[in-house]
Amino acid sequence: MKDCVFCRIVARETPADIEYEDDAVLAFKDIYPKAPIHLLIVPKRHIASIIVMEREDAEAIGRCFLAARSLGEAKGLAERGYRLRVNCGPEGGQVVYHVHVHFLAGGRERGA
Ligand code: 5GP
Ligand code: ZN
Repeated sequence: MKDCVFCRIVARETPADIEYEDDAVLAFKDIYPKAPIHLLIVPKRHIASIIVMEREDAEAIGRCFLAARSLGEAKGLAERGYRLRVNCGPEGGQVVYHVHVHFLAGGRERGA
C-alpha cells in the first residue's frame, strides 16, 4: 500500500526506530510515545483494521502478539507486565489504518 505510513516503514521508505523484526512482523518506537516504552507492532502485510480482518489474516495478527511476548522477555518485562492495545475504527481511536498493536510499559500511560 503506497499511501500507508506503516507499509512505508516496513519497506524502509520512511525511517523508524526498529526494535524487532521477523518474517511476518515489524516493531518500532511510536513517534509520539505515551509511556516510557511505547512500541507499535505491525504485520508486514497490509491489513487495514481488525474491523475488516479475514480468517486468513489471523496468523499474521497472532504473530504480532508472539512478537509482543518476545519483546517483553527481551526487555525484562515478563514479570512486571505491559499493556497491549489495538484501536479499532474511528470511535476506537484508530488513526492509522494498518493493524498495529500498541506495546506500552514502564509506567503510566500519558493522555490515554
Ligand atoms: P492509532 O491511534 O491508529 O491506534 O495509533 C497510531 C499511532 O501511530 C500513534 O500512536 C502515532 O503516534 C503513531 N504514528 C503515526 N505516524 C507515525 C510514524 O510515521 N512513525 C511512527 N513511528 N509512529 C507513527
Ligand atoms: Zn499498510
